Amino acid sequence: MLNVDKSHRGLVQVYTGPGKGKTTAALGLALRAAGHDFRVVMIRFFERDFSYGEHLFVSKYQPFEIVRLNQRKSATLSREERRSVAQQTLAFAEGVLLEGNYNLVILDDIFDAVEMEAISVEDIVRLITVRPQWVELVLTGRSAPREIMKRADLVTEMLMIKHPFYEGTGPRKGIDY
Ligand code: ATP
Ligand code: MG
Repeated sequence: MLNVDKSHRGLVQVYTGPGKGKTTAALGLALRAAGHDFRVVMIRFFERDFSYGEHLFVSKYQPFEIVRLNQRKSATLSREERRSVAQQTLAFAEGVLLEGNYNLVILDDIFDAVEMEAISVEDIVRLITVRPQWVELVLTGRSAPREIMKRADLVTEMLMIKHPFYEGTGPRKGIDY
């Protein structure tokens, strides 16, 4: 049984930008934290048309948890359905934060939900504010709102210098998903 270490102060981290590596950086951090028996959860806001290696790995070995409330691909959802999925995911994330049973909470692609106007910047500010002080909160997505970057303790921007996608290479199994 993992214990939640409530003695340390968790910070707010942002991984943003158009380059590859936001979700993989968050997963690397999850692995590191899990190695120290921290309780970790990644909550994903959007689904893509892939069977992600990280989901297969987590269901096989249970090193930490990944939560996906919506199993349907975002691209197949209407604007209203996407909004409703994002709102449900937001409410779930808020509940997880309020309970304080995790040392590391990752909200993957949460900024994409803001871009789609499915949730607001104020919603994210509320998540930052309500979290107990021992929770390290990691937020990812292509375009982090300024207000959130201002409030975060750590902001890393992934630059897109090159990506094989633009040379016609599609998403690769085990690399991109
Ligand atoms: P990854 O999951 O590989 O760390 P990411 O989280 O930084 O990527 P997302 O914005 O979530 O990137 O993009 C989702 C998908 O698009 C992933 O399969 C990712 O590998 C791929 N991808 C990331 N950056 C780019 C890019 N600049 N151009 C095209 N595809 C990209
Ligand atoms: Mg990602």
